[in-house]
Amino acid sequence: MNNSYNIENRDDISNFQRFLDILYKKLNKNPVVEEISKQVEDAETKAFKVLISTVLSARTKDETTSEVSERLFKKIKNIDDLLNIDQNELEKIIYPVGFYKTKAKYLKDLAKIVKNEYGGKIPNKLEDLIKLPGVGRKTANLVITLAFDDYGICVDTHVHRICNRWEYVNTENPDETEMELRKKLPKKYWKIINNLLVVYGREVCSPIPKCDKCFNEVKETCPYYEKLRYFSEILEQYNFKKVSKNKIPEEKGTYILKIKLNNSKNITFGKNRIERFKKGYYFYVGSAMGSSNNLKRRIGRHLRDDKKMHWHIDYLLKHGPIKEIYISNDPVECNISRDLMKMFDFVEGFGSSDCKCKSHLFYLKP
Ligand code: SF4
Repeated sequence: MNNSYNIENRDDISNFQRFLDILYKKLNKNPVVEEISKQVEDAETKAFKVLISTVLSARTKDETTSEVSERLFKKIKNIDDLLNIDQNELEKIIYPVGFYKTKAKYLKDLAKIVKNEYGGKIPNKLEDLIKLPGVGRKTANLVITLAFDDYGICVDTHVHRICNRWEYVNTENPDETEMELRKKLPKKYWKIINNLLVVYGREVCSPIPKCDKCFNEVKETCPYYEKLRYFSEILEQYNFKKVSKNKIPEEKGTYILKIKLNNSKNITFGKNRIERFKKGYYFYVGSAMGSSNNLKRRIGRHLRDDKKMHWHIDYLLKHGPIKEIYISNDPVECNISRDLMKMFDFVEGFGSSDCKCKSHLFYLKP
């Protein structure tokens, strides 16, 4: 990696900035669009290539973007070439990038706008770039940063996820994260944060994080890892084991359901209570201890599609599936809830109307 960023003024920097410094020192890899930008000297061509390859890169593997960009730029060298090429031919050249037909149309439309409104030159302002077809804030920021060497913060899904896991921001989507970072992240990190977190987010801090591969200096103070480790310790302390949906025993005990909510939602539960449930994971703690009850029967009711909407959890399960099930034969429902409350956010009063716990539902960011 090669840019003008310097590690200095190390006093009083936040944990988050310390993590970025560690990645900066240790990683030596660039995402494909950055590599493409480095191969071009002239600013106008660089802006053109960065913009086009970033549009191509959405939902596409780096290797594919790299191959397709190379093939395309042999034929198309500027906006005029893009205007003149037939759309069907363009589709064939950029195949197999994801959504190649839509992207071919975007590129043709984009070429017309750039030619007519900007004299054939890629605009260098964020507000102009985001008006182009197929160009969102992420792409626009990347063009600003890589092509025009200006200050932008390109926030994609990896940057958004890791900034939240490291608790530097508390946001629901990449655009919100960008706005928060613009307020609090020192400018010296703006141009490098995307590069660092995209590489790390793909290889290590991925949607299912590979914490065993993480740099020790990060792992030892990573807030997300601390939560994951705490949850594992609780499972061990209370003799939980993971079971599959079709192997739940007819025994008494306590259970934890790990539920995944793919999108943030307002959910109504109980007596018309409405709460915002953020995208992420939820741990629900329940028990099956009564004389006529057992784990198989109780969890089986949660797994059914035609739930009777009897418990709070039924309302959440309408929106997100059960991903994992843990069971213990010990009657420890409230002990665990109290322990989880020390580390996790929770939904007040959820699932705890029969006891004195504040909640039986705990939240973990995705
Ligand atoms: S310890 Fe795990 S969660 Fe934390 S940064 Fe590393 S991979 Fe991500």
